[in-house]
Amino acid sequence: MDAGAVTFPRKKTRQIMVGNVPVGGDAPITVQSMTITKTADHEATLQQIYALAAAGADIVRCTCNEPAAAEGLARIVPRSPVPIVADIHHQYRRALEALEAGVHCLRLNPGNIRKPEHIKAVAAEAKDRNVPIRIGVNGGSLHPDLYKKYGDRVTPEAMVESALQEIAYFEEVDFDLIKISVKASNVPLMIEAYRQLSEQVDYPLHLGVTEAGPPPGGIVKATAGIATLLAEGIGDTIRYSLTSDPVDEARLGRQLLENFGLRDRKNVDLIACPSCGRAEIDVFKVAQDAQDAFADKKLPLQVAVMGCVVNGPGEARDADIGIAAGNKRGHLFVKGTNVAVVPEAEMVPTLVEWAEFINEHGIDAAMKRAEESAPAARRAAEEDRNRNLNELGEDVNDSEQKVELMRKQRD
Ligand code: SF4
Repeated sequence: MDAGAVTFPRKKTRQIMVGNVPVGGDAPITVQSMTITKTADHEATLQQIYALAAAGADIVRCTCNEPAAAEGLARIVPRSPVPIVADIHHQYRRALEALEAGVHCLRLNPGNIRKPEHIKAVAAEAKDRNVPIRIGVNGGSLHPDLYKKYGDRVTPEAMVESALQEIAYFEEVDFDLIKISVKASNVPLMIEAYRQLSEQVDYPLHLGVTEAGPPPGGIVKATAGIATLLAEGIGDTIRYSLTSDPVDEARLGRQLLENFGLRDRKNVDLIACPSCGRAEIDVFKVAQDAQDAFADKKLPLQVAVMGCVVNGPGEARDADIGIAAGNKRGHLFVKGTNVAVVPEAEMVPTLVEWAEFINEHGIDAAMKRAEESAPAARRAAEEDRNRNLNELGEDVNDSEQKVELMRKQRD
């Protein structure tokens, strides 16, 4: 089956506009991240917003925790390349100020802003300005009454009830520009809360595993939660919450959606073999070098780094371009066809140069470019392939010997 043809049906939600970015309905799933600068320092914050947008963030959130932050937002919003969400905890007045500053969306934590009259005042003002609000329930800051009601525990039901209570306040003032999150740092809890919420509402959902921690553990946690829900068709916008440079959050969010086929590929998808006894180079190093070399290039291609020419070109034949190591040289292949041979030290620069060529001119032009070098490249690959097989044998991992031994021991 063509892997590209596999899709996950998406649950239909209403659509809202966060500035000029649609969220929900049939809009592409969006990537969010959050600045870690002081919002009052508008120049530093804008610089970070630009970096996040370049890394793939469609929407950026900034804290609005003090009057100076609200003033910072008034300066940030007109110069931001992406819509801005103001993050509000505890003080509903900051929400009103953020609206005055012109933000494109608010995030309210129902566990922290508890007075119904305050919630309704914010919703009424947001309604007048046509600005949506994210109800951001957080397992760690659940309303104390709900915590108690559910046996002094944070449960999916308690989190969903918190969201529903907030929706009810909004509906009282006829406000429905809503998106919702029910984040927790516990992955199964978060997954179940979103599943239950998705059954009960058709507002767009913002996915995230809160306080996932530093990479790599945090990436695993966030991906486990977000990816599981995406595969179930749940989620309209996502955020990786990592203890790390927020640019990583934006990159990872984008990468996850591209890998799911939920966003058009903008960046290189680097595939690399895990290396084994047959490898003729330090695959980890070459793959890392390739990753670094492609990091800031916007090339929507699949690129392969393979440790040997015996299996590399075949196993990575779907890649647009790849390189496999031979005897101190690299075998460049396009869609599994050997096109050129280069010295080991030039493997990564050659890979980048050909990837840029393919991006600009296409695969057919690359094949044409390789017409002269391809026959020699095929011969060289065959030589290195045979050499590797003769020196290391067909069974480089000694599997057959081990199977023999097991059989003997059974007799
Ligand atoms: S056989 Fe070659 S391509 Fe496969 S893991 Fe080993 S080195 Fe990499």
